[in-house]
Amino acid sequence: MFDSYLKESIIGRAIKDKKISIKFYNPMDFCKPKERVDGRPYGGGPGMVLRPEFFLKTFGKINLRYGVDVKKKVKIVLFSTSGKKFTTSYAKTAAKKYSDIILISGRYEGIDARVQKILKAEEISIGDYVLTGGELPAMVLIDSISRQIPGVLGKYESLEEERVSSSEVYTRPEILKYKGKKYRVPKVLLSGNHKNIEEWKKNKKE
Ligand code: SAM
Repeated sequence: MFDSYLKESIIGRAIKDKKISIKFYNPMDFCKPKERVDGRPYGGGPGMVLRPEFFLKTFGKINLRYGVDVKKKVKIVLFSTSGKKFTTSYAKTAAKKYSDIILISGRYEGIDARVQKILKAEEISIGDYVLTGGELPAMVLIDSISRQIPGVLGKYESLEEERVSSSEVYTRPEILKYKGKKYRVPKVLLSGNHKNIEEWKKNKKE
């Protein structure tokens, strides 16, 4: 699931240049042949719950840069629909503060809650919607946090991000004709007045 995305573009380049490195661990690899990775939920309800033992076993095998016992600089995130909302500001802090981030992805109805308690993992949600699993949230964090690591973005891209950038952007042509209508680039962007342009971008951002 991760391969094609992580090979592309900025993230692909960051991995190639060893600015970031990503390892994968599958709790199912720690199941014995007849063991099941999931179980019925206590208290009833639909779906299955991922059993805690396999996650804890997996955790013990994680190969961190400074070793698994060094709690400092290691962040443990567990994806949950009811977790704290992930933001760019979270990504910025995480990129500065941690050398390793462990991302735990759930499936089915989620992971037995004791995993979060034992590992003291922070529950993170990427938005108010339910996905099938934590893989997409993991990719979202990998992408967003990596962009904040020095050297991952090119010099120009990072300067642009630091400066005022906006989500409303324009390029050629200056006047776009579509179905008999003309769509123009905002005048201020063509004015050459940098102060006004920055102001416009700032307003668009808010
Ligand atoms: N009934 C569960 C609930 O409401 O939390 C649904 C679990 S969901 C099908 C399976 C897993 O996907 C979750 O345990 C979580 O790891 C991940 N997931 C789904 N949506 C997510 C979101 N918006 N943010 C973060 N993780 C999410």
